[in-house]
Amino acid sequence: MPTYVLAIDQGTTSTRAMVFDHRGRVVSADQREHEQIFPRAGWVEHDPMEIWENTRLVIGGALASANLNSSHIAAVGITNQRETTLVWDKTSGTPIANAIVWQDTRTQRLCEQLAGDAGPRRYAERTGLPLATYFAGPKARWLLDHVDGARERAEAGELLFGTIDTWVLWNLTGGPQGGLHVTDVTNASRTLLMDLHTLDWDDELCGQIGVPRAMLPQIRSSSQVYGNCHPGILDGVPVAGILGDQQAATFGQACLERGSAKNTYGTGNFMLLNTGTDIVPSANGLLTTVCYRLGDEPAVYALEGSIAVTGSLVQWLRDNLGLIASAPQVETLAKTVTDNGGAYVVPAFSGLFAPHWRPDARGAVVGLTRYVNKGHLARAALESTAFQTMEVLEAMNADSGVTLTELKVDGGMTANETLMQFQADLLGVDVIRPVVAETTALGAAYAAGLAVGYWESTADIVANWGEDKRWHSQMDSATRERLRRGWDKAVARTLDWVDEDVEQG
Ligand code: ADP
Repeated sequence: MPTYVLAIDQGTTSTRAMVFDHRGRVVSADQREHEQIFPRAGWVEHDPMEIWENTRLVIGGALASANLNSSHIAAVGITNQRETTLVWDKTSGTPIANAIVWQDTRTQRLCEQLAGDAGPRRYAERTGLPLATYFAGPKARWLLDHVDGARERAEAGELLFGTIDTWVLWNLTGGPQGGLHVTDVTNASRTLLMDLHTLDWDDELCGQIGVPRAMLPQIRSSSQVYGNCHPGILDGVPVAGILGDQQAATFGQACLERGSAKNTYGTGNFMLLNTGTDIVPSANGLLTTVCYRLGDEPAVYALEGSIAVTGSLVQWLRDNLGLIASAPQVETLAKTVTDNGGAYVVPAFSGLFAPHWRPDARGAVVGLTRYVNKGHLARAALESTAFQTMEVLEAMNADSGVTLTELKVDGGMTANETLMQFQADLLGVDVIRPVVAETTALGAAYAAGLAVGYWESTADIVANWGEDKRWHSQMDSATRERLRRGWDKAVARTLDWVDEDVEQG
């Protein structure tokens, strides 16, 4: 009887379940979107119960569409939107509030207070991260400070903290009836509460950030058997892999050698460079993070360039402006013109992440003249993704001392050929898309399959990787420099926008 591995990919906009075969090809899949809740400017929430319900439904859908049941599944892997934070009641399984999503900026003041005179890099040596609204620890503190009685209940051990991986695993393995309260090192490395060197929660960080250790999950490896699903449709199947979504994509892209990198184009963009077992601090606005840890092997680390808004700008054109009816239409509209007409869009909706880390920035459309039309704006929106990627690649090259000669890409936006060509043009290096574009889910499947012996070693991952399409740079350097100059000026105009006395939510 053939067996497969099932991956749950709980993303920012949707939840997918995908079944993979031994060659790493998709056998079946199901997907559901969930609601994006924007209670006020700068706030972004998800309903954790909706996410768990969707997770159950897509698992059922993916199994049913290929006529499979639990006996065909060798292991389950989980990958997830990172940093998104929730707190729930251990006994009832009910969240005390909606999950606070990674893009949410409500912890800005808190992060400034924590930074104090030491500045945003106060914890950078220990955690690899700047103090920014992006990360989970301060989000948990916010919930404990703002939900009545939460801090007392957390200290008494009645409430559990989790990122989305932990929430999904706890529910898959029984919820209030003995659910496992566990996270993996990659997700834990995004909390500001874990020491990158010891790979354990740091008491001083927990104390200063204000998250009681009693509510934190156990930190485990990214690839090991955590326990079995129970009860439900996958009853008895081991859950054996957990990776944050970007680390999963890095793994699924077979970036297993020190010096290999990938860039994922989804809601935001995330470039990760494998730095092997070395913890490489960044001097250029990147994060240092755990890339993966397989079983008892030493952890592998990465440098990461995180960009908050790329694909979500396309959603904004669709949902907030009504400029397009669907995301792929942005390409059709962009192709009605041959260039940006002098217009630039800087989507600093949540401030600017890497390499700037400027929470005070807000979005801008600049360079407008009477000539600019909606085609130019669509093009400028797409180009903003490529410009932001260019900045991150430059930081990567500077931090690592190695110049990348090609870039492996994946994610929803890589279907956009106009964007991929412009990206290659701007970077002056080849851009390569693999055959299996669903590298995030695939990476989680690999982590789980390796732990149960479904795949023998990481050599199987390398053997399964195949190139689908490659874009070469066709732009002359004068054009590249002119565009670059325009982008730099546009970015400069977004800074210092948020004033102290204006409530940003
Ligand atoms: P995530 O995993 O972060 O939810 P995906 O990898 O599924 O994201 O990519 C979805 C994102 O890609 C959405 O933000 C959407 O706007 C964008 N997108 C999808 N198709 C296209 C396209 N053809 N051109 C540009 N953007 C696209």
